[in-house]
Amino acid sequence: MPKSPWSVPVTEALHASGVRVADLDTNATPGFRGDKKAGELLLEERRAVLSGLQEKLYANGRSGDPRNILLVLQGMDTAGKGGIVRHVIGSVDPQGVDHAAFGVPSAQERRHHYLWRIRRQLPRGGQIGVFDRSHYEDVLVVRVHDLVPPDVWGKRYDEINRFERTAANAGTTIIKVAMFVSLDEQRKRLTQRLDRPDKYWKFDPADIDERAYWPAYQEAYQAVLDRTCTEYAPWYVIPSDRKWYSRLAVTELLIDALGKLDLDWPPARFDIAEQRRRLADL
Ligand code: AMP
Ligand code: MG
Repeated sequence: MPKSPWSVPVTEALHASGVRVADLDTNATPGFRGDKKAGELLLEERRAVLSGLQEKLYANGRSGDPRNILLVLQGMDTAGKGGIVRHVIGSVDPQGVDHAAFGVPSAQERRHHYLWRIRRQLPRGGQIGVFDRSHYEDVLVVRVHDLVPPDVWGKRYDEINRFERTAANAGTTIIKVAMFVSLDEQRKRLTQRLDRPDKYWKFDPADIDERAYWPAYQEAYQAVLDRTCTEYAPWYVIPSDRKWYSRLAVTELLIDALGKLDLDWPPARFDIAEQRRRLADL
């Protein structure tokens, strides 16, 4: 039998338990035996597998199955969240994707509880929901920049756990992905955005200011992993200096989650023989 390209399943290799964010090797490729070339080749294959499984999920959703997947993407700017949306989620039928990006809350959003805008975007049955940033910003940027007092953000971890447990009980498989690049790699990627006219649109001068807060963000991410990695909504930590690896890893996490739903094609809700006869006559 050919050797698996993975020495350890991704769900084990990347699980957040015990991870020290400050010590993470962001250039590593945990669990994967191959190099970039092998990773890129495998990604092509696995994208097709993901697409097939997603179609089954969608088909079941159309038949009333409430189950769905929620992929939560968190990471500092340039970590590659957009690349995951484009290169991983981009391999499935867009009809089956509920994508939501969460930026600075609007005036309307600010008048509501921080989970209000999140709840409205939870995926429907049969969908893969993708959150590009999420309710975790309310314990990340908010904590780092003292946007609310510590006793306010401090209560949010438990509240988030309860919120996610409720969603999980209602049929959502939650996969949370924290993408980490090194400060050096981020400088490279920001430099590219300044070097290339096709990347100017991604550049935000504020991203440079945020670099000064790197240790505070690491601490805030550590608290998130320590306090909100649960059985029903686990965190996976993705070293993301190598884009091919982070994309492959997230693809595998999605394939794993879909596989565990043990989906079949929904049965026909009509009499097949009868429909054949009707079709022959008309
Ligand atoms: P981007 O993802 O590059 O479009 O940037 C979105 C920005 O919105 C990031 O700087 C986030 O930190 C910020 N953001 C997202 N959610 C919140 C929030 N709840 N409070 C404050 N800032 C937020
Ligand atoms: Mg940005």
